[in-house]
Amino acid sequence: MKEWEKWLKDIDLSLNDRQKEQFQRYYETLITWNEKMNLTGITGKKEVYEKHFYDSLLAACCYPFEHVHSLVDIGGGAGFPGVPLKICFPHIQLTVIDATNKRIQFLEHLVEQLSLENVNLVHMRAEDAARDERYRDSYDLAIARAVAKMPVLAELCLPFVRKNGGWMALKGRAGDEEVEMAAPAIRALNGGDVDEHYFELPTEASDRHIYVIGKQNKTPHAYPRKPATIKKKPLG
Ligand code: SAM
Repeated sequence: MKEWEKWLKDIDLSLNDRQKEQFQRYYETLITWNEKMNLTGITGKKEVYEKHFYDSLLAACCYPFEHVHSLVDIGGGAGFPGVPLKICFPHIQLTVIDATNKRIQFLEHLVEQLSLENVNLVHMRAEDAARDERYRDSYDLAIARAVAKMPVLAELCLPFVRKNGGWMALKGRAGDEEVEMAAPAIRALNGGDVDEHYFELPTEASDRHIYVIGKQNKTPHAYPRKPATIKKKPLG
């Protein structure tokens, strides 16, 4: 697709033949599996490339991914944004955590199809995984798109980040109010200031906001709380 290469050029990314082939295969695998399970409502080729692949890669405009060694995608679903980022930055060790086993099964198949190395797929709730020493306070960067509102998302993501690492939240329009509401949660979880980045998708021109938050210290023992408590009483 001609537009795809232009979109990427506009955000200073370029792909080699292997990476182009991996995106093509990602599209085909997504569409084939989507016929038997609900992975995405977006199925047209241009739409998938714009609203899933390009949208995920906008994260690369806001963080130095060349220096990210370990990335955890919380609630990665069909792999967004973690897998497009892994394709573009193959040196990254990617962990995707998702509570839905059928999505993890899709990702296992996808990782094999794309011959991706150093990808760890974890079928767990983020609240439980963050209590596991293998994942807690461990990652250079945690990322999430379309999983929860910011006050809840802070508690699902920040516990995975190592001291001086970062958390990125990829959001549509509703972001700003949510960020204000999340300030107490971010403080409680030892997050720092919030940097906001704004984008428009190239053809559809819908808004995207990406929030980047640094982690200043280890996660306090009390967090994350149990899923029902987080849901009932989001920090804030
Ligand atoms: N991030 C993907 C995207 O942008 O296309 C998927 C978004 S989908 C709407 C939300 C995903 O988050 C689902 O796959 C769901 O299983 C997962 N999820 C929601 N809450 C979660 C939690 N507490 N722990 C782990 N996964 C969770």
